[in-house]
Amino acid sequence: MLPDYKDITSRLGEPLWYDGRGVGYDPFRPEMCDAYANYVAFAEVKCQVCGRRFSVAVEVNKYDWLNSFGREVQFPGAADEGDFHYGDPPKHEAGGSLCPGVTMSCTTRKIIEFWVRDTSTGYRWVRKSEYEFEYRGEGCGDGE
Ligand SMILES: [Zn+2]
Repeated sequence: MLPDYKDITSRLGEPLWYDGRGVGYDPFRPEMCDAYANYVAFAEVKCQVCGRRFSVAVEVNKYDWLNSFGREVQFPGAADEGDFHYGDPPKHEAGGSLCPGVTMSCTTRKIIEFWVRDTSTGYRWVRKSEYEFEYRGEGCGDGE
């Protein structure tokens, strides 16, 4: 379950998007992400319980990934989001109380934007539309 950002959202209202560390009130740009990120998927995810949708940024540092898992990053494809799964949805309420979906992995509905920054791009963020997909039905991703 992700942290509660109620101290921020109670003052500023619902954010436009979330990432693993906070909330965004300005429109998403990859420059707003972690300085060490090599890839970022800006995605729409859905709570499995209440169906609420959120815009989220999923950041990946390919060197951390290699060190942690010993394999190359799996990019989004037509059937699934690869290694760009958000995990539990942002903390939210449904029906006046904490939604039980906050402890369940969300589903990915859409990769809205996909960005790459590494030696191949001169460390500039370059959008790669070939990794942007909309998933049918319930979406994909179960955190496995
Ligand atoms: Zn929910």
